[in-house]
Amino acid sequence: MKIESGQVRKRPERFTGQEPSTILDLDLDPLVRAAGAVRYSLTAQRFADELLVCGVLEVEISSRCARCGESVSQTIQDGTFMRSYPLTAANESIDLTPDIREAILLALPMSFLCSAQCRGLCPDCGANLNKAPCKCGRPGKSAAWGALDQLKFK
Ligand SMILES: [Zn+2]
Ligand SMILES: [Zn+2]
Repeated sequence: MKIESGQVRKRPERFTGQEPSTILDLDLDPLVRAAGAVRYSLTAQRFADELLVCGVLEVEISSRCARCGESVSQTIQDGTFMRSYPLTAANESIDLTPDIREAILLALPMSFLCSAQCRGLCPDCGANLNKAPCKCGRPGKSAAWGALDQLKFK
């Protein structure tokens, strides 16, 4: 995404639109994919020798839950995007793409979860414990706590 600095005056100028998700270069990570375009709603304002750009970036990301492996889709948003670009000529084409990419990558969570309460997979039989308790007979957490409670009350 480029802004022609000559178009921007002291009055804040609004730029909204979208960029193809290929600007994010997510191909290297097999688990994280952009499920749509990168949307931006930015305001640019010109000061003496700099262009200040701030606003909101948003993209839909598909990934897999780190606990159970089910697919997850989540809107990643950077609501505090702000960059300043020094101006050296009356009109320059300022490319925001690398900064948009960086801001989105920084906003990505370390891992995706289908829900905060995801129970994940049984480490023994691999059953998805969100769907049903597994049948491999591994004593669950609740049983362990039950035994502990009995000890306390003896
Ligand atoms: Zn999950
Ligand atoms: Zn199991």
